[in-house]
Amino acid sequence: MRRFYSESVTEINGLVTLTGDEARHISTVLRMRPGDDVLLIDGKGAEYISEIVSSSDGEAVLKIKESRISAAEPEVKVTLFQCLPKQGKMELIVQKCVELGVYAIVPVVSKRCVVKIDGKENKLVRWNKVAQEASKQCGRAFVPSVLPPVKLREIDLTPFDAALLAYENEDMRTLKEELRRLGSVSSTALIIGPEGGFESEEAEELINKGAASVSLGKRILRTETAGMSALAQIMYEFDQ
Ligand code: SAM
Repeated sequence: MRRFYSESVTEINGLVTLTGDEARHISTVLRMRPGDDVLLIDGKGAEYISEIVSSSDGEAVLKIKESRISAAEPEVKVTLFQCLPKQGKMELIVQKCVELGVYAIVPVVSKRCVVKIDGKENKLVRWNKVAQEASKQCGRAFVPSVLPPVKLREIDLTPFDAALLAYENEDMRTLKEELRRLGSVSSTALIIGPEGGFESEEAEELINKGAASVSLGKRILRTETAGMSALAQIMYEFDQ
């Protein structure tokens, strides 16, 4: 069943009106007809089995037949603190980490970040659009947010049950060992450095805030690989 996203699913007498790109997609691109079934997702975790009642170029009216909580959401909420990578990589990181079940993404400005993000609000809009498209494509009903960037020293780890610092100079403890030690967590921060890695005092600062420094293995991964790799390992470990 084709999936359509609506930021706010406002039901009036069991009917929901879709407008904008999604409505145009239904009527003009896919030429769907009244009576066809679609899956409406609200981006917050709920999905609605609906039937098209009417559709024109700018509007589609749907009748909700059944609503449910999506089964595609992982129980562990992983917030990825991604130090800003060079041009163009962030879209790949957002897309792949949404597919892998990330809960939220926070771009981070650290000492060795080459890219500066000041005044580039349109980047954030673009990254959130990528998250929405990736979420729809992979069957999630929840759209992870890409939040406004923070400086590394502003990272607040207190809201999390656990915090994992993927540190390239860590050679004592692996991610696997730390996940086994944690057992099960409901929310964790995952911190990934930029291409140039972390300054030692940055790593120290995060460890002093409670992050566990972990190795992702014997090879140095690119920044765009590291988050995906760690996320996949976390989801594997917690059967998500
Ligand atoms: N410039 C660093 C160096 O040569 O050691 C490499 C940085 S790596 C390209 C980018 C980020 O990916 C790192 O800061 C870290 O967060 C993560 N990363 C990559 N490989 C890792 C590994 N084997 N263990 C832990 N973290 C790793």
